[in-house]
Formats: sequence, C-alpha cells, structure tokens
Amino acid sequence: MNKDSRIYVAGHNGMVGSALLRRLVSHGYRHLIARSRQELDLLDQRAVSRFFAEENIDVVLLAAAKVGGINANLTQPASFLYENLVIESNVIHAAFASGTPKLVFFGSSCIYPKYCPQPIKEDYLLTSGFEQTNEAYAIAKIAGLKLCEAYNRQHGTRYISVMPTNLYGPNDNYDLQNGHVLAALIRKTHEAKLAGLRSVSVWGSGSPRREFLHVDDLASAVLALLDADHVEGVFNIGYGRDISIADLAYLVCDVVGFSGSLDFDSSKPDGTPRKLLDASKLTGLGWSPTISLRDGIAATYADFTEKMQRTGYASA
Ligand code: GDP
Repeated sequence: MNKDSRIYVAGHNGMVGSALLRRLVSHGYRHLIARSRQELDLLDQRAVSRFFAEENIDVVLLAAAKVGGINANLTQPASFLYENLVIESNVIHAAFASGTPKLVFFGSSCIYPKYCPQPIKEDYLLTSGFEQTNEAYAIAKIAGLKLCEAYNRQHGTRYISVMPTNLYGPNDNYDLQNGHVLAALIRKTHEAKLAGLRSVSVWGSGSPRREFLHVDDLASAVLALLDADHVEGVFNIGYGRDISIADLAYLVCDVVGFSGSLDFDSSKPDGTPRKLLDASKLTGLGWSPTISLRDGIAATYADFTEKMQRTGYASA
C-alpha cells in the first residue's frame, strides 16, 4: 500500500470506519474513498458491483456492519444475521470481481466459542458452541471470514480478516438499549451525576470479564497489517488485559466523577463469561496498543460531552 493507493473505507461514519479514516488522513494517504449509506446502499448487490467496477479500488477496509450491544443482538437476530451476511457477500464478491488486490474484513471476538480457553487464539474458532446472546452476529462474521478464505483458496486473492476485541472511543453509540457497555456506562454515570442520583444500574452480575481496546489503537493495528508483507489469515486485535464489568463500572464512575453506588440488575443477561484475546500473531509483527484504559475512557468521556453539547441532550 502506498500513499497513492485508492483505499475504500466501507462504514466510514461508524466508530471503526471513522477511526480508520482519521488514521489514514494523518498518515498522508491521498486517495480515500467513502460513501454514505444514502450514496451507496451496501445491501444492494447491483449498486455495490457498479461502484467497484467504476472506482478502481486498490484496498478495501470492510468496516461496514450492523453492530450493537448484548440487548440489540438478543432482540434483533434476524437483522444482525441478514444485514451482515448481505453486506459482506456483496462487498467481498464485488472486490474480487473488480480485481481489488487487498481487503481487510472486520469481525469480532464474539465469533469464538462461549467457553474458550483464555486468552483466545485464532485457532480456537469453531471448536465448540457459541454464546447464545450473539450467535446470529457471530455466524454472520464467521461466514465473512470464511468467504475471504474461500476466495483466497479458489482465486488466489490475499484478503485478510481481523477480529478486534470489545472496542470503544469517539463516535461510539451512546444509545442505552442498543449500544455496548462502555458507552452506556459513560452516559448513565454522566446523567446520574447531573441529576444527583444515588446509584446507576449495571446490567447483569458485574462478574463477566471483557477486554477493551481504544478504536485508535485498532486503526494503528490495521495500518501495521497493511504495511506488513505477506500477511495472511485471521488476526486477533486486543489490548492484552481484561477487567470485570463491575471494576469497569467503578473506573467509569471515577473518570466521570460520579460518587454514587452501582445497582446490579440481574434481570439482564451476562453474556459470555470471558473473552480475552491472544493477539500474539499481530504483536509478533511489532504492533502494540498505546492507549491505557483510563486515558481512553477519559478521552471518550470528553467526546461524549462534546457531542451532547453539540447535538442536544435528548438525542444521544
Ligand atoms: P458483549 O461483550 O457482546 O456481551 O456486549 P456488551 O458490551 O453489550 O456487554 C458486555 C457486558 O456488560 C455484559 O455482561 C452486559 O450485561 C454488561 N453490561 C452492564 N451494563 C450494561 C449496559 O448498560 N449496557 C450494555 N450493553 N451492557 C452492559
């Protein structure tokens, strides 16, 4: 990849895609291609094929996806399975058909079995059953990864897949029903602080453990992979350490300045007990994360409050 490569970031308005764009711009890449959903509907196979035929793309970063937290996954399994299968089929096939040489497909650490040895290596894929809350999303993402492998095997492409751990950062989704835990906790504790509440609700038991990576570290990992020669297959991308949801909530309270208590809501699901990735395949290439969890939460909290001031409180 060079500074004149024509790089298409699919999903550039999302948290991951926007981080990729920021990183590419700051590293001097000159030919970045992005389309909003209104300009190009990735569920429309013909439109996607036409776009690839016209744009002469060198690199695709396939970060467009239907994503959401544990509740969204549980309540919209058809949307998660259908939309992700169609987006990835349309984009990966059109990339191949138009001769695009490089593609990075973005999956998730939730593709791995529910009870996996920890930390999770890429090889543990499909060795036992899924976590039920995100089975639809996991199956769609495994199909995307397998599609890349199949095109590589049958047609000699060199498409790779990355499996990031739980991500957070600017442009996260702060919706309390559909978002992920860190964004939700930032919003809840901030609102509780302003309203003078004595406690915030934390879903589940607080005992599940999760690993959190700032999305700017993810973007740096992807650029490192694109710069490396002869990389292939699947790469886990993680922070290297995990934390219980209870401890995460205390950390968020500390950063936000909320001094009330936590109220664990056992009517809500815990999800998988633990998902800590083994990212040694990637760190062996020289990459490592640089943003500590506390600093990353502080930066994300600043992004949240700025967004609230700009867009109005009710629209978070
Ligand atoms: P997951 O990693 O796929 O399970 O996705 P989430 O980020 O949605 O949830 C991670 C963990 O945080 C689960 O155990 C949730 O029950 C827990 N959790 C605690 N409070 C919240 C909350 O307010 N929102 C979400 N989404 N999860 C929460």
